[in-house]
Order: sequence, then C-alpha cells, then structure tokens
Amino acid sequence: MFKMLRYCQKIRGFCPTFVKLRQIHNFSPDKNYDVIVVGGGHAGSEASAAAARMGAQTLLVTHKKETVGEMSCNPSFGGIGKGHLMREIDALDGICGRMCDLSGIQYKVLNKRKGPAVWGYRAQIDRDLYKKHIQTELFENTPNLDILVASVEDLIVENPTTNSNKQTVIDCHGIILSDGTKIHAKSVIITTGTFLNGQINIGTKIYPAGRIGDQPSIGLAKTLAALSLKMGRLKTGTPPRLNSNTINYKVCDIQKGDNPPLPFSFMNDKVWIKPEDQLVCYLTKTSLDIEPIIRNNLHVNRHVTEEVTGPRYCPSIESKVLRFGGRQHQVWLEPEGLTSDIVYPNGLSCTLPEDLQVELIHSIPGLEKAEITRPGYGVEYDFVDPRELQTTLELKRIHNLFLAGQINGTTGYEEAAAQGIIAGINAAALALGKSPITVSRTEGYIGVLIDDLTTLGTNEPYRMFTSRAEFRLTLRPDNADQRLTAKGYQVGCVNKARYDKMVAMQEKLNDGISLLKSITKPARTWRKLLKMAPSRNMMQKSAFNMLDCYNEGVTISMLATVAPELLPLTHDPLLENRLHIEATYEAAASEQAVEVEEVRKEEALLIPKDLDYYSDTLNLNSEEREKLCSIQPQTIAAASRIPGISPSSVFRLLRFVKKNPAVQAV
Ligand code: FAD
Repeated sequence: MFKMLRYCQKIRGFCPTFVKLRQIHNFSPDKNYDVIVVGGGHAGSEASAAAARMGAQTLLVTHKKETVGEMSCNPSFGGIGKGHLMREIDALDGICGRMCDLSGIQYKVLNKRKGPAVWGYRAQIDRDLYKKHIQTELFENTPNLDILVASVEDLIVENPTTNSNKQTVIDCHGIILSDGTKIHAKSVIITTGTFLNGQINIGTKIYPAGRIGDQPSIGLAKTLAALSLKMGRLKTGTPPRLNSNTINYKVCDIQKGDNPPLPFSFMNDKVWIKPEDQLVCYLTKTSLDIEPIIRNNLHVNRHVTEEVTGPRYCPSIESKVLRFGGRQHQVWLEPEGLTSDIVYPNGLSCTLPEDLQVELIHSIPGLEKAEITRPGYGVEYDFVDPRELQTTLELKRIHNLFLAGQINGTTGYEEAAAQGIIAGINAAALALGKSPITVSRTEGYIGVLIDDLTTLGTNEPYRMFTSRAEFRLTLRPDNADQRLTAKGYQVGCVNKARYDKMVAMQEKLNDGISLLKSITKPARTWRKLLKMAPSRNMMQKSAFNMLDCYNEGVTISMLATVAPELLPLTHDPLLENRLHIEATYEAAASEQAVEVEEVRKEEALLIPKDLDYYSDTLNLNSEEREKLCSIQPQTIAAASRIPGISPSSVFRLLRFVKKNPAVQAV
C-alpha cells in the first residue's frame, strides 16, 4: 500500500486521498454507472442530485466526504442576480435553495427600493449547518446516488474521429482514479472548482493547493490540457477570519434581517429560523491608514502584482486601494454560524503576509484588537475556456464529457450550482437516451449565464448580475417556477409534487388575473372610491390596471374594500403578492414580449459553421470579421450579443443566413 502511495506521489505529486480510496458510500466497482460527477462542491452537488433525480445511476467522486457542500469563501448565498439563479435552480428542483431555507441565520432581500423584478434574495448561512443538510440530502435522501472518496486523475477517452471542421473528436467513457482504477460511465461531469493546478498564495509564499487544507488537482489538469482544450488561468482570494469576541461592535452600524424572512424555495412558505432569532451583521469602514500598509508592501504581495486576472466585482482590498485611492471601503462583519465565534469580514479579501494582515485589520475602526483566526489567502487556478462547450455544457469536441462550475471561468456558489444542475440533467439525459434541455436568454438567468460563457468566453471570473439579462421584466424571482418548472418536469428532474404546486399556483394566478380584469370602472371613479388624488380621466380601468399604480400604493386589499368580489384574493398573501407583481409589470412586459419573440426567432436561426465572414456581401468591418471568426456564434441571437457587432451588421448577417441557411444543426 505505502509503496503504491509513494509511486502515486512520484507520478502525480502529493496524493493524500489515495489512502482513503476505499472510503465509500454505496459505491460498487461492478455497477454500470450512467453518470459520474467529479467534485462535491456546489456544481457537483447540484449535478449529482439532478442526474440521480432524472433516474440515472450516478456516482459522485470527490476528494473528501466531509467537504461535500463546503462554502469555500463567503458565508452567504444569493444577492443581486445570484438570487435569481437560486430561484431558477429551485424551480428545476435543485437543492441549494431548500438547504439555505434550513440553514440561514439572517435573510434579507436586497434591492428592495427597486421593483421586485430585480430583488436579490440573499441569506447569511450557517456554514456547518448548510454542509450538514447538503450531505444528508446527498448521502441519505437521494436514491440512485453513490459516493466515492477518491482523487480522479485521468479520463477514459477513445474513438478519435475527425469532424467536418477537421478537428479531432473523441468520446469519454469514464474516469481513472489515482490508484489506476478505471470506472466506466455513459457520461462524465467535471466540477473541480479552483483545484486544477491550484496554487495558494500568502505574501510571497506559494504552495500547491485547491483551497486551504486541500491538495490541488494536477493529473486532471494535465489530462484536459493534453486533450487540446483551450485553458486559461484566473485567481481569486478570501479575507482573514476574525474572532467575534475580540471585535468592538459598538462603533459599527448594525444590520438586521427581514421580518418576515423570505424563503428561497417555492416549496417553502417560511424558513427554519424565527424572525427574532436571526443574527445581525455589522458594518464598519476602512480608515485611510490601510493605504501605506498596502502600497508600501507590494513587493511582498505576489498575488496582487502578478498578471493573472482576479474577480472584478469581488476585488481584494489591495485592488480597491490601488484603483480607488483616498477612499474608505465598506467592511461587512458577517457571522459564520449560530454557534460559531468566527466572523467573515466581507470586503477584506487580501493576500498580504500574515503579520501585515494583522496590521491592516487593526487599523480598521472596531477591529483594533481583533484576533485573526485564519489568514486571508489567494488562489490561482486553471480554467477551461467555456467556448469549448455547447449550451448543454457538454464539450464540443469530447462527447459525453460535461464541465460545470468554476472550472468554466465563473465565480460564486450560485453560478456553479446553476451550471451544475444543467450539466447534471443533460449528462443524465444523454445517458438515458432523452433529449437535453437548454435554457434560453428569454427563459432565465441560467440561460444568460450559459449563453454568455459559451458565446463570449471570459477572461476574468464571471459573476451574474441583473444587468446582464436583457429581459429583466419577465425574468423575475417571483415567476421562476412558471418559467422553468414545467420544462424540468418534462425532462424528468422535477418531482410531481412541485409540478402540481406550480400548476395550482398558475391556475390561481390566471383566475385572479381574470377576476381583476373583469372589474372595471372609470379611472376617476376608482380614484375617488380609493380616496386617491382626484383625476378627470374617464377611461375605463380594470382593477388589474389599478394595481399598476405601484408607487401610489394601491393593493388588492384596498381594491377589495370597494370591490368585495376581490376579497377571496386577499386570503392568500402569497397569491396576492404574485398578482400584484404581475399587474405591476404587465404593460412593460407585454412590450418586451414583442422583443422576446423577435429574439426567439433569431435564436432559432442557425449560422452555417463554414460561413465566410470575409464575404463582400456581408460588408463587415475588420473588427467585426475578427470577432465573428474567433467566437463563431452558433446563432443570430448569439452574434447580436457580441460587443462591437453593430445592429445593422447583425441584420445583414440575418438576411445572408436566411438566403444561405445552415445545412445541419450546430
Ligand atoms: P468547488 O466548490 O471548489 O468544489 C470543487 C470540488 O471538487 C471539491 O469538493 C474538490 O475536493 C473536488 N475535486 C477537485 N479535484 C478533484 C479530483 N481530481 N478528484 C476528485 N475531486 C476533486 N466566490 C465568490 O462568489 N466570491 C468570492 O469572493 C470568492 N472567493 C473565493 C476565494 C477562494 C480562496 C476560493 C477557493 C473560492 C472563492 N469563491 C468565491 C468561489 C466559490 O467558492 C466557488 O465559485 C464555488 O465554490 C465553485 O464551486 P465549484 O463547485 O465549481 O467548485
């Protein structure tokens, strides 16, 4: 055994999981697996749960059983844009939303001053509780799912053929573990996060690791590079953790959770914690004293000075100081759990040497005596250019191999989980001979995420925002179930109870809208009855139209005082709220529906693979030719979203493609 371990270390580098190779949960080497998922992070958890829900015999292979569902960085889920992804994952029966409803310690909807279309469902999460619930869900409550603790070092690939573009295409038939064991499957999903050639950095210290306490994935990185996949390198970082008992909260602002706290899942009416038991967060700000600590020590801060790109929207404190000097920066002090003394100082991601991290922390009001329980660090890792993927998340040139999560250049638990569920569904569909699903940009933020990645690629860690979605008024958190649950049910990843609940709500919404539309009065009369500012408008307005006056505060309950037929709608607060949102967005959304329809038509139009972008008929400028040639969009809609391609050029392209259509599906 030890001889073998030494051999593994020699050929693959450090390989501590080898000794735990047979630490298994239901795994049987003789089983014929449909789907193998590599990695038990947020992408891997959703992928394996989705594949198993689809009825596929699924094996999750991961380094450590105890880190399945680990939150590597922030103790929170959701937020602006990310909260939309959570609701959509839930609409497809994903697990992260339901687990957050069981482990949140403070729930708060962000962006409340704006309309509900862009509200960001968010919660501070008890790290240990979340992991416990995810593990119980996967290990005990998910039929068809086996778990194996091992390190995947290689893939079983065979049958190289050449496609019409003279590219070599191969099939993936399984995985090879660090002891050489081969496990076959009809499809494989890799979700290895920051682990591919991962390298941790604190000050000038560098050592190989996927994240703190975990070895990197070297063999698999070599395999993917050897398969000629286009790879890149990105970096991210995490702040030092603090001992709560050493923080002076008296000088900080307090932030409380919502009352009532709103659940993430459509299946839940409430979350597990009582509103009054929610923990509070605190806000402090850096003082200008941090500037010399950062600026004078750049020579001992390798992570910050090197060229690799980090997360633009979650920058380190060093990047913030270097880009926006002379400013104070917000630091949220977030508890890591109900019984934990650890605090996560959100906004202070840094990679200074440890002694300088202490100096930096002590310069911040409220943290003068704070004790660091774990230093901040950076991690640098390989990722696969997501343009190598189809929108199903299967690789274009390696059949049966899917990628999901941070390996595709994204950052964040929610982005990882969103890709995980789609990869899980499609890997299972492929194995079971079913049709895959894709989510379009008009159907969901998941569609926006995957379309952006597969069309544009990314050269920095990609994060979801509401501004990335063109159809914000229709892609709302409140209606994710109406947009996606039926689709998930048809493919087999949504259970009947959830589908029935969605259908029942849809029927109640339809009936409610009909009722609200059937009660009409002149606008002037409504306003008089509702004691609103007088108006001479004699136009007939329905009760539904009156709710459109969102800012004037008209509610269904108010309307019911003058139109008692509406009273039954007020007995169900959830229905009342959803009807109100529907009414608020109806006018704007119907205008947008015309646009959506146009894009939908464009989306269906495939661009021939061998299209000559240098053709004089297209009359494209040199930048447009270059971008279209390198991105090779699969559809007109995808071409229209490439920055730098003008609408008139897209129109010429559209006419050209209509005259010279693609011969076969891309
Ligand atoms: P992970 O959650 O990393 O999971 C990968 C899994 O794969 C692990 O379980 C690992 O053990 C397993 N694995 C890897 N290789 C193998 C192998 N060969 N064989 C078997 N198992 C394997 N997100 C933000 O939104 N904001 C931030 O500021 C932020 N900062 C971060 C800082 C750090 C230091 C790190 C590590 C992550 C940070 N993240 C941040 C990112 C966030 O943690 C990830 O985006 C998210 O966890 C990615 O999920 P994933 O499922 O793709 O990968």
